[in-house]
Amino acid sequence: MKVFISVDMEGIVGVVSLKHVISDSKEYERARKWMTLEVKAAVEAAKEYGVKKIVVADSHGTMINLLIEDLPEYVDVVTGFPRATCMVTNIDQGFDTAIFLGYHSKKGTVHSILDHTISGSTIQRIKVNGLEVSEFWLNAAVAGHYDVPVSLVTGDDKLTEHAKTLIPNIETVITKYALGRRAALTKHPKTIEKEIRKHVPKALEKVKNKQIEPFKPQIPLNVELEFTDSTMADVAELVPNVKRIDGNIVGYTAQNIVEAYKLMEALILMAIGIQKI
Ligand SMILES: [Zn+2]
Repeated sequence: MKVFISVDMEGIVGVVSLKHVISDSKEYERARKWMTLEVKAAVEAAKEYGVKKIVVADSHGTMINLLIEDLPEYVDVVTGFPRATCMVTNIDQGFDTAIFLGYHSKKGTVHSILDHTISGSTIQRIKVNGLEVSEFWLNAAVAGHYDVPVSLVTGDDKLTEHAKTLIPNIETVITKYALGRRAALTKHPKTIEKEIRKHVPKALEKVKNKQIEPFKPQIPLNVELEFTDSTMADVAELVPNVKRIDGNIVGYTAQNIVEAYKLMEALILMAIGIQKI
């Protein structure tokens, strides 16, 4: 068995504040340890189950958060940014399942920790075929494109609830109960480590018994990106096949989710760039 793990930071146990997720603070140094501990628990549990190959994609911010020296030596880590399909780069048909750790809700979710969609400063919302989507949706769809089911997700109570609506049989670990965007009733890191160790074999057993389907949205995909500022849409519409829909909104059609994701990534990076001029 081969397992792909994508790990974000906002849904990690204890994380509630921007200080936890932005790299120039003391609190960030604590949060990246909690993040590494969650990954270590998942990796060790997968190895114990008999998984032969584990790849972990560090998937928050500039994507160099994990203390890789604290992970077991049999793990390979996808690290650094930018990369083609961002949080799920290097996943392919060779993997049996994906595990998403520390995930968070889409922008605008009521009482959910540090909710945003891909880029907090540039993206108001992303719609695919008329449906407003989350990072979980996008990354599960990329995994699904390669016939890889997502079998376990960790994050706050709102994120895990959302994940179950897309993948009913998914295993979930609630790391904290959100009381607002920046406040939560959190569990203890050691409790979450134990819960992850308990749920990973359950998830892998479901995969083995084919009880979880890969998530596959209908294709082709009509993508709409709503930016936080119309300057970003002015720049995005310069790209061939990207159409202006409204002041802050551009749209395009993609034949599959990987194609959709790559163009989305490029347009968001352009939007981040124009903010600095
Ligand atoms: Zn993040």
